[in-house]
Amino acid sequence: MSFFIEGDTGKWEVVLGLEVHAQIKSNSKLFSTASTEWGGDPNTHVELVDCGMPGALPVINEFCVNQAILTGLSINAKINEKSIFDRKNYFYPDLPQGYQISQFEFPIVGNGFLMIQTKEGEKRIGITRLHLEQDAGKSIHDQDIKNTLIDLNRSGCALMEIVSEPDLRSPEEAALYVKKLRSILRCIGSCDGNMEKGNLRADVNVSVRKPDSEMGTRCEIKNVNSIKFIQKAIEYEARRQVEIIESGKKIIQETRLFDPNKGETRSMRGKEESHDYRYFPDPDLPPLIISKEKIEELKRSLPELPDEKKSRFISEYSLTDYDAEVLTDDQYVSDFFEEVVKNRDSKLVVSWISVELFSYLKKNSIELSESKITSKKIAGLLDYIISGKISNRQAKELFEPYLKSNLEAKDFIEKMGVEQVSDEGEVEGLINRVLQENPKMVEDYKNGKDKLFGFFVGQVMKESKGKANPQVVNKILKDKLT
Ligand code: ADP
Ligand code: MG
Repeated sequence: MSFFIEGDTGKWEVVLGLEVHAQIKSNSKLFSTASTEWGGDPNTHVELVDCGMPGALPVINEFCVNQAILTGLSINAKINEKSIFDRKNYFYPDLPQGYQISQFEFPIVGNGFLMIQTKEGEKRIGITRLHLEQDAGKSIHDQDIKNTLIDLNRSGCALMEIVSEPDLRSPEEAALYVKKLRSILRCIGSCDGNMEKGNLRADVNVSVRKPDSEMGTRCEIKNVNSIKFIQKAIEYEARRQVEIIESGKKIIQETRLFDPNKGETRSMRGKEESHDYRYFPDPDLPPLIISKEKIEELKRSLPELPDEKKSRFISEYSLTDYDAEVLTDDQYVSDFFEEVVKNRDSKLVVSWISVELFSYLKKNSIELSESKITSKKIAGLLDYIISGKISNRQAKELFEPYLKSNLEAKDFIEKMGVEQVSDEGEVEGLINRVLQENPKMVEDYKNGKDKLFGFFVGQVMKESKGKANPQVVNKILKDKLT
């Protein structure tokens, strides 16, 4: 669904395309054997190539190439058997080579797509390309009064840049796209998807237009590193553009920055200031040739991807599209679900995981994987519901204290004394007492006052202090009164 902005002149539609940078999860860098470990002392993971020593030669890391191919295959993309590494020339203090080795005209991965699950159904988002490139180092401005310090530990780490088509139409769709991409990368292990550490970040291209007209001029918001910020940045930027156009001015193509504290985007550089990178093929690196056999071999090694898992969940457990998407977004969650659903009714399990458990996690702002909640703990409680020992309603009331306790279901339910009375003998005893105490009502009921049935049920429940299993009560009462 498009995200419309109501302007003075009517509705405006938002058009978005994302360039996602994903750091490849590998032990060493793209063209050197230096470690990629995070958080080491500054400039301790640096080889000669990474600090731009003249004459030091880059050597391609085969593992990183394989990860890029696997990623390409899992976004349904064409793998190019021949690709070229180019030098993208620019000066920056944390770029000692004076250029970044990247790919331009001939990337390793061509056209692909991925599917997102919107509220209106599935939507296909085109992917233009995926290319490999080096990351830059880091400039540190806040540790010395006079000087900027440089840390080259990140210099030369492998990045995949994944460029989408301008197919996204709302902040929500952009969020769904990044989430889906992240779950794919995590599933195959090519990137850990950690946005806080900057291992996954997005340049967000935003333009606005009147519905059904040509695409407008875009602005690019650089390096946004959380899904929430991506959405906020889009909302702000789209409104800003509408205001400019409606005031009779034109959008100038430029690069902007999102300031999360102020919730606004600010100009960084305009098109005139944009660099002419003078791309040319890196003479130190031959074309990268990948054989068909290699591609086939990697294809065979792919694990079950999120969409495949989703389809399997739909057919195996009769889930809705939406539930299946939610449960396959994260491997930890899908494994958890599969452990709980084993030999249990999937409808019950889904509602307890995707409604009750997820809202508990959301309320407490924790991820399932960070919580101490085990699949055994959830399964334990569900077994009490399934066997009728506690009601669904009782379980809901107990859910939060149960999750917060360190007890297993059995011990917890014993301690709380909530076990439902389902024993027919015991329930019958209660019913006999109620009927004996209300002979007049029994007679009225037998003479046709059907409504009194509810009264009897209520009395039995009261006698049992709410613990009698309503289904058992209903069944025995019916037998007794006919
Ligand atoms: P550049 O390197 O100049 O940013 P790229 O081709 O790498 O160019 O990326 C362009 C990005 O902008 C793509 O994600 C594309 O989908 C998106 N895009 C292109 N035109 C528009 C537009 N009019 N509105 C929004 N996004 C756009
Ligand atoms: Mg760009």
